[in-house]
Amino acid sequence: MRYISTRGRAPELGFDDVLLTGLARDGGLYLPQSWPQFSADDIRALRGLSYPELASRVIGPFTGGCIEPAALSTILTESYRDFGHKAVAPLQQLEPALWVMELFHGPTLAFKDFAIQFLGRAFDHVLTKRGERVTIVGATSGDTGPAAIEACRDRDAVDIFFLYPHNRVSEVQRRQMTTVTSKNVHALAVEGTFDDCQDIVKAMFNDETFRDDVRLSAANSINWARIVAQIVYYFHAAVSLGAPDRAVSFAVPTGNFGNIYAGYAARAMGLPISQFIIGSNVNDILPRFFDSGALTTGTVTPTISPSIDIQVSSNFERFLFELYGRDGRATEAAVTEFREKGTLSVGSNLWHRAQDTFDGYRTDEAETKAVIGDTYRNSNYLLDPHSAIGVASARARRKDSTTPVVVLATAHPAKFPDAVKEASGVYPELPPALADLRERPERIEVLPNNLQVIQKYVRAQLGIAEAA
Ligand SMILES: *Cc1c(COP(=O)(O)O)cnc(C)c1O
Repeated sequence: MRYISTRGRAPELGFDDVLLTGLARDGGLYLPQSWPQFSADDIRALRGLSYPELASRVIGPFTGGCIEPAALSTILTESYRDFGHKAVAPLQQLEPALWVMELFHGPTLAFKDFAIQFLGRAFDHVLTKRGERVTIVGATSGDTGPAAIEACRDRDAVDIFFLYPHNRVSEVQRRQMTTVTSKNVHALAVEGTFDDCQDIVKAMFNDETFRDDVRLSAANSINWARIVAQIVYYFHAAVSLGAPDRAVSFAVPTGNFGNIYAGYAARAMGLPISQFIIGSNVNDILPRFFDSGALTTGTVTPTISPSIDIQVSSNFERFLFELYGRDGRATEAAVTEFREKGTLSVGSNLWHRAQDTFDGYRTDEAETKAVIGDTYRNSNYLLDPHSAIGVASARARRKDSTTPVVVLATAHPAKFPDAVKEASGVYPELPPALADLRERPERIEVLPNNLQVIQKYVRAQLGIAEAA
């Protein structure tokens, strides 16, 4: 299995190099040259498998032999062993033909654990085999940092530094980073905004000396290995509800478009999926695109669903590449136009083709809170604000009432306790594994919003001197 860049000018790579590289050298995102195919019988054969077994079957073809089957199986068993539910990704029925798939039983209570637990171990495996080490650096607005730190805390071949905006993440999110005591883990509170943190990370990658000295690597949401791990639960849900003999639809609260793109990949592999519904809050660049054919960025408005407060969806480039018939030059031109003008029109043909694949729905704060409150009163079920947006969009945009719709519940309600309490009257408690989070000692490292200071800090922690 070889991987190509969405911009067509980067070298083709195997799975291990795509994993370690993240972003392609031409600025594009990596994609498999062709989609592995699962026949109806292949899908039927997935019935009854445990989650890690199913994951091995789905991920195996993508690794192209870079990770041997036995090693892959061990990595996947370990990745999902500490999840707080035996089914890993349990399905709950809310009403006829409407299901919630709980993707929040991982160690940091958001769906990102599914991908990052795998990513951390896959990194470690490939690096150990090569006798190499890397330093992972990232910026987080709250969810990715904890998930990445949790996945890398006990890995031998990685050091990890995550920058978060000081006093601008929730207490739970901060503590999930600052209470980890492993020596290879560094959570840095930057005196600035999330955008400042992101700018510093970008600048570190653009500083070639620094990048090479510390062997910089990224774990961000454009890494192909993250998408691959997310394809698995689409198979898991569809097979549980009758695939390949019955189609299902999915509704997904969407920010960077990585999660729902994994569903698109599952369908390209042969899984019968009827509809993809994109749930968005008032930061609705994607619903506006599917309604108008124009991708137009706006300013970001903070909401009670902060993980999807995004006006540029980085993984959307992967879908654009498919829309443009896998033409790297056309994709690059489109992405450049969008970056320069803040808007991109794809023309009516491509727009209609995009509409055949995705539906979008925008939820405002009042509707999100109403869904949380009503669902608690009617079904005795607590949704977090992101998952509530998924439920609202499933109800609003489903095309028929008989095809089951699976809403991806991307976060545990206890991750957003204040919003959930206000909407439902109930304060969601943290699950047992995290119940003592507020008592654990914290190590908070506050650094100024200054590239040089932070680079110096990273070097000092790694014991890597600056060249004279
Ligand atoms: C990251 C995140 C999302 C958005 O997922 P994308 O893959 O970026 O579309 C939705 N909900 C929660 C809780 C998240 O943490």
